[in-house]
Amino acid sequence: LAKLQEREPHIRSFLHISAEKALLDAEEIDKLLSEGGGGELGLLAGVPLGVKDNLCTRDMPSTGGSQILKGYCPPYDATAVCKLREAGAVLVGKTNMDEFGMGSSTESSAYQVTSNPWDLSRVPGGSSGGSAAAVAAGQCAGALGSDTGGSIRQPASFCGIVGLKPSYGRVSRFGLMAYASSLDVVGCLGASVLDTAILLQVIAGHDKNDSTSSLEEVPDYAAQLLPVEGLSSKPLAGVKFGLIKETMDEEGVEEDVASAVKAAALHLQELGASVTEVSLPMFSLGLPAYYVLAPSEASSNLARYDGVRFGPRAHGEEVMSMFGNSRAEGFGPEVKRRILMGTYALSAGYYDAFYKRSQQVRTLIQRDFKAALQDVDVLLSPVAPSAAYKIGEKLDNPLSMYLGDLMTVNVNLAGLPSLVVPCGIAKGGTCGLPVGLQMIGPAFGEEVLLRLGHIFE
Ligand code: GLN
Repeated sequence: LAKLQEREPHIRSFLHISAEKALLDAEEIDKLLSEGGGGELGLLAGVPLGVKDNLCTRDMPSTGGSQILKGYCPPYDATAVCKLREAGAVLVGKTNMDEFGMGSSTESSAYQVTSNPWDLSRVPGGSSGGSAAAVAAGQCAGALGSDTGGSIRQPASFCGIVGLKPSYGRVSRFGLMAYASSLDVVGCLGASVLDTAILLQVIAGHDKNDSTSSLEEVPDYAAQLLPVEGLSSKPLAGVKFGLIKETMDEEGVEEDVASAVKAAALHLQELGASVTEVSLPMFSLGLPAYYVLAPSEASSNLARYDGVRFGPRAHGEEVMSMFGNSRAEGFGPEVKRRILMGTYALSAGYYDAFYKRSQQVRTLIQRDFKAALQDVDVLLSPVAPSAAYKIGEKLDNPLSMYLGDLMTVNVNLAGLPSLVVPCGIAKGGTCGLPVGLQMIGPAFGEEVLLRLGHIFE
């Protein structure tokens, strides 16, 4: 807690710090240990963790980074949060994020701007930027995030840590504030692949409160990791990787990023794996399809914030103007832009041209991934076209911000799991900036990703 608080004024990763309650929880675990009850301790006993602010917590405010939920304290815990507590985790606070997950730099938070611990003048990525910065700065040992189009992976890459976006349905979404329900997943960020595997182990599984959560059994992820020490010289013999061609050729991918990914591919080859170039012909259509589908779902999901049921209520002469004023005052500019885009795409006259067509593109992208994953075990790509950029650099240009999501959104459209591990350093900052490698696997193949990703540690 001392470390967290000492670094917080520089990084501003937290929207709420739960120091008193965290100490009480830790003392309880201490007591159990001293009474010889260590055997009852869970997998995360005493481990300090952060939770993204769009996950409901009954003892801490949950705002989703929005003014429209300022001061809102939910009456229940999200299932993933509940599972952390049951495993003995000590929750230290709620982490900053782009409002309702809409953004890639955490600058769209209604409350504060978070800095990248590697260079305080740069963004930590987003929308789970608070979670990633907190882990990278050692303010907590791990954190929960959510990923609708890259929000765990891109900040993990920008902050030089490990991020895991699980398969759609692997983790319950109960208690996660919905952004785009068909794309949203809860996942985890950690300082190592092992930490991330343990976090997934705890939060994964079916939940009767989320009918889209899978009945698929949860494997023992940590037990499956390849040992880093004492490896044979070719531990990856027989493993097939495919480097996604479209993500490497893409104009605008910085040279440092491409070369770090190529070096990682070479490393995998040296360890005995085969790495071939794989083409996903529909890849470039993912971004425009995502930016129709995600705002469409958001425009519907965000209809619940009307000043009546949650958060502050604005004044209005009659009920309709009260709704309108509450939303006008409560939502920030990016959220309003998404609601407008989504409402437009869903309107009767444009539905076929935008929403329906994007759904068709989504099917084609799913097919591309399925075909590619028949030939290789895991697909590789960069996470984002660049390393962390300067605070303010893209804020006035939403389109350039959206373009940064090119390499991550397709994975959500296909519902696949994806692991990001640090793989190199790009120029920039005082000591360089981290670059991540994205590893994409078949649905419910988290086990394979974690096992292979562990090689990079
Ligand atoms: N940056 C993307 C967006 O703004 C993805 C965000 C997310 O995954 N929540 O929609």
